[in-house]
Amino acid sequence: LIKMASINIKSLNKFYGKTHVIKDFSLEIKDQSFTTLVGPSGCGKSTLLRMIAGLEEVNSGTISINDKQVNDLSPKDRNIAMVFQSYALYPHMTVFDNMAFGLKLEKKSNEEINERVLDAAKTLQIQDYLKRKPKQLSGGQRQRVAIGRAIVRNPKVFLFDEPLSNLDANLRVKMRMEIANLKRKLKTTMVYVTHDQVEAMTLADKIVVLRNGCIEQVGTPLELYHHPCNKFVAGFIGLPKINFFEAFVTKLARQEINIELPSKKIVSVPIGSSENFKTIHIGSKILVGIRSEHIKTTRPEDADFIGRVNVVEHLGSETYLYASGSRGVTLLVRVEGDNPLEVGDAVYLSFDKSRFHLFFDKVKLLVE
Ligand code: ADP
Repeated sequence: LIKMASINIKSLNKFYGKTHVIKDFSLEIKDQSFTTLVGPSGCGKSTLLRMIAGLEEVNSGTISINDKQVNDLSPKDRNIAMVFQSYALYPHMTVFDNMAFGLKLEKKSNEEINERVLDAAKTLQIQDYLKRKPKQLSGGQRQRVAIGRAIVRNPKVFLFDEPLSNLDANLRVKMRMEIANLKRKLKTTMVYVTHDQVEAMTLADKIVVLRNGCIEQVGTPLELYHHPCNKFVAGFIGLPKINFFEAFVTKLARQEINIELPSKKIVSVPIGSSENFKTIHIGSKILVGIRSEHIKTTRPEDADFIGRVNVVEHLGSETYLYASGSRGVTLLVRVEGDNPLEVGDAVYLSFDKSRFHLFFDKVKLLVE
């Protein structure tokens, strides 16, 4: 059974009344790829997923699966399975019957139903619970039944809408790994909505960052992490969050730019391309983004930033320091777990300038 399924979305628009929630949205999803949709609450992730599933009408634009337009196909004819945050299991049915329900509707033979349910149950390690009712299961087991119910139908596309957000932290980690295994085993196309950074980063082949119904950036997890195309993506992707502060341009050359840091120190930053320079001039205010692992504590004479420790968070393997300094800037710095700095201590920091993300207006300057 070959389950090819590429999804092609073109110029999709969705209105709820007068509210334009999906705006001229286009995206190509490759066969057998795992795509996560992330973005702030209300940006349209669920709506998009529900439109792919056929649960929500399209106002304009097209959704195609394997080049066949599916806009007018009913959900059951799209060969798509969706797994929700609320497991939506039938409480009065056993696990087996919950998983078999869709197949019975499709009038499959008992033999085939048995085989498919047992197969899925084994994959998900719930074969011992088939006779139980949902209320006799833990949250993680219930979510596995919900996934099992989707698997037995052998869909071409799996859609997940925040499937793990009702689970406690430990179970989440476990289920995340199970979904990663499923992805390898089932080789179907998967689209996964989450607000969990770690799920988005670890599961995805491609992450789509949405904002107000539009795409901000599409890329592999590490592309988005290391090369965010704008301030929004830089601030959205990555935990702990990237640091931002303002700086002023003091010199512009072909392949470098000098900027004055909040400490008044002037540093030179290697620039990959000067094509965006036209609107920048000496004195321009630019925004610098720097991730916490690219800031180090250093000797006072080498400091790019001098501050005081505001907050210390010991996580065991590492420690987060919040350091406040010149111009009211606070930076989050990741240091070793047994770092002795305490609240109130002076702290001297240096930046890896080659890791600066420089933003000017809506433009990103490429740092070499
Ligand atoms: P997300 O999943 O990213 O949190 P949603 O897709 O659920 O966002 O919602 C996108 C926007 O559409 C939000 O502003 C939300 O309030 C609105 N919305 C969602 N469903 C409906 C609905 N059935 N009727 C009216 N507005 C809706």
